Amino acid sequence: MLVVHKYGGTSVGNLDRIENVANRVAKVKAAGNDIVVVVSAMSGETNKLIDYATHFTPNPAKKEMDMLLSSGERVTAALLAIALQSKGFDAVAMSGRQAGIVTDDIHTYARIESINPAAMQNAIKEGKIVIVAGFQGMTKEGHVTTLGRGGSDLSAVAIAGVLKADQCEIYSDVDGIYTTDPRIEPKAKKLDTISYDEMLELSSLGAKVLQNRSVELAKKLNVKLYAKSSFNDNEGTLITEENNSMEEVLVSGVVLDKNQARVTLRGVSDKPGIAAEIFTKLANENINVDMIIQNTGTDGSTNLGFTVPQSELANARRVMEKFDHDIQGMDFDDHICKVSVVGVGMKSHAGVAAKAFRVLAASNINIQMISTSEIKVSMIIDEKYGELAIRMLHEAYELDK
Ligand code: ASP
Ligand code: MG
Repeated sequence: MLVVHKYGGTSVGNLDRIENVANRVAKVKAAGNDIVVVVSAMSGETNKLIDYATHFTPNPAKKEMDMLLSSGERVTAALLAIALQSKGFDAVAMSGRQAGIVTDDIHTYARIESINPAAMQNAIKEGKIVIVAGFQGMTKEGHVTTLGRGGSDLSAVAIAGVLKADQCEIYSDVDGIYTTDPRIEPKAKKLDTISYDEMLELSSLGAKVLQNRSVELAKKLNVKLYAKSSFNDNEGTLITEENNSMEEVLVSGVVLDKNQARVTLRGVSDKPGIAAEIFTKLANENINVDMIIQNTGTDGSTNLGFTVPQSELANARRVMEKFDHDIQGMDFDDHICKVSVVGVGMKSHAGVAAKAFRVLAASNINIQMISTSEIKVSMIIDEKYGELAIRMLHEAYELDK
C-alpha cells in the first residue's frame, strides 16, 4: 500500500513529538508499505515568523514572506528525516520545490498548478521514506511560494492525488470529526464516515482539523481522506464519496458559527438593478456575503438583509453608508450567530428543516434568517442562544445515540 500521512503543527510541536511521529511512520514502513509524509511547521512557528517580519513593517513584501514562512516546514521535514535515519530507516527530506510542486505566482496564497512526481517516485522506488515540507511550492520561474494558512493539508492531498496513494491520513491533536463541537456539547460523538460535501458544510467544525481547500481538492481527485490523532490509535473519521448508507442518516452534525454579522436595509426601492448595485459594490471590496433575504415588496419598497463575516462588518458598513439613494434606513448587528444542521439524508427525507424550526420555537428562540441547501439548513439567531440551540438540535436529531 502507498499512504500519505500529514502531521500538523501540534503533532510535531517539539522534539519528543517529532520522535513520536518518526516511530509512527517507522511502523507503517516496517509493515511493508510505501509512505510519503507531509509536515507542517512546529506549532507557533509560522506565527512567530510573521511577527518577526511585521516588527519591521506592517506590510512586508509577499515574495519575501514566502521565503520566510516556507522555512518553518523545511525545519520539521529535515528533523523528521534525521530522526528516522537515526532509527536505521532510509528517509529523504524534500522542500516543496524538490518534491516538484509548481504553483501560480500569487505569493502567500498560491494555487498548485501541477506536480512533477518524478523525484518522489524515484525515492519511493529506492525504498526511501519521503518527507515533504508542506504548505509550499515554487512558480515556473523557481520562486518559492506558500499556499495559505493551513496549506500543508492541501500539499498532502495534492501529493496523494498525483501519486495515486491508497489513502491520505491527516494527523492533528483531534481524533476525527464530531457531530458537534464537544466543548459545546460533551455528548458529541465522533463520526466514522462523512461525505466530502458534508465536511465542507461543517467547515467551522472541521477548520481546526482540515483545511477547506484540501477537502475540495480531495473531492475533485477522489482522495480517500482520514482525520486522525497522532496522540492515540483511535480509528479517526473517513471523509469520502457519498454512499447510500450515508443517506439513511438524516443529520450528520450541527454547527455553530459565531463569526457572523447581519446588515439590514429598510425601505429599499423595489425596482430592477438595486440588488445588483448593492452586491456589486460589496463584492468590489472583497466582502463575502453569505445569506441574503429579501421580502416581497409593498408600496414600491422592500427590506433586504444579508450576513457577512464579523471581521468584514466595518467594511460593509462603510460601503453601505456611502450608498446615497434608494435605501431609507439600515442597521448593523454583530450579536448574531448562525446554527446549521447538516446531512446528506435531507436530500431524500422531508421535514428535517421543520423539525429544526420546532426545536428552536420550543425554546422560544426567534429565527431571524433562514437559508437552505440540499444538505443544510442554516438559521440566524441571537448570539446568546447559540450554544443552547446547538445542544437542543443535537438532542432532537439524536446525534448522541
Ligand atoms: N504552517 C502553516 C500554517 O500555520 C501551514 C500549515 O500548518 O498547514 O498555516
Ligand atoms: Mg492545520
